[in-house]
Amino acid sequence: MVCKTVLITGCSSGIGLALAVKLAKDKQRRFKVIATMRNLSKKDKLEAAAGHALHKTLDIKQLDVCDEKSIRNCINSIPQRHIDILINNAGVGLIGPIECQSIEEMKAIMETNFFGVVRMIKEVLPDMKKRKNGHIVVISSVMGLQGIVFNDIYTASKFAIEGFCESLVIQALKFNIFVSLIEPGPVVTEFEMKVHEDAEKADYSQTDSETAEIFTNIYLKNSKAIFSSLGQTPEDVAEHTLKVITTVKPPFRHQTNAIYTPMTALKHADPTGALMTDSFYKMIFRYDTLLHVSLKAIRIIRWQAHKMRQGARLLGFR
Ligand code: NAD
Repeated sequence: MVCKTVLITGCSSGIGLALAVKLAKDKQRRFKVIATMRNLSKKDKLEAAAGHALHKTLDIKQLDVCDEKSIRNCINSIPQRHIDILINNAGVGLIGPIECQSIEEMKAIMETNFFGVVRMIKEVLPDMKKRKNGHIVVISSVMGLQGIVFNDIYTASKFAIEGFCESLVIQALKFNIFVSLIEPGPVVTEFEMKVHEDAEKADYSQTDSETAEIFTNIYLKNSKAIFSSLGQTPEDVAEHTLKVITTVKPPFRHQTNAIYTPMTALKHADPTGALMTDSFYKMIFRYDTLLHVSLKAIRIIRWQAHKMRQGARLLGFR
């Protein structure tokens, strides 16, 4: 069986770490993983999780997606610069009222989530074209398809990369290169923790009191409830990504959380945008009690399902 070289960005935590370990421990040994991270002093968690796979099917290298020199050094260190699958995972978040965010903070999000991916693709695409083979994967988000209140800049960065990939995919196909966008809903990782921590510490004096109140008392509370009710694990997203990269004709888009599919379909069902804006407005400002009850019910159902799976495993069922 041919062993494919997979380079993943942002592997010190979350989805990147889970995916690097999953591919490196593949029973069929289909992958050689180059797990990259901005800061190598954070490699301990990945090394511990990789266990025996370390230095066999998994190597750790430094790569900052915002630094062209570090990207080139990393790729030049790979024999023949040969990468079969590039997984752009590194990303950063930002939530809150835009009046409280500086243009510099906003640019930093675009630098990582948009230009970071563009830099990576620019570096590997010529080699993939020469070999007439390759797969470029981007960990996007359902927020690459649908804007969410108080996620203005993060959503813009994911829309930008979705538009970029939608343009590139056709040219790439001519060279037998596949492009795939993985679109998770909420995933319980450090990402969510970091954005919530930053939001709780932020200064809301630059906005009016009504906006600050909506953000802290409606958005932050709902967002936490949504993550604990509907959030996936990084391992779930890694499993979905494995399926995408092992499919003979990989899909261009793949959503990992079916609950979000109707939400992303609203704008296509009504091109005027009225169905989408009405639905979100009512869900947030009119029926928020119903939203809370539904999320609570989902949490209980998921907990029961988890207990049943544990019970079944104890009884020897797979
Ligand atoms: P995470 O914070 O655990 O992982 C993000 C990783 O990117 C971190 O290891 C971080 O160090 C790294 N990173 C940030 N800037 C970098 C840079 N300049 N160069 C290299 N690495 C850098 O969060 P996660 O949830 O695992 O996020 C992974 C991806 O999934 C992101 O692109 C994110 O937008 C996307 N995503 C996350 C969620 C979620 O709810 N957590 C949902 C949908 C999509």
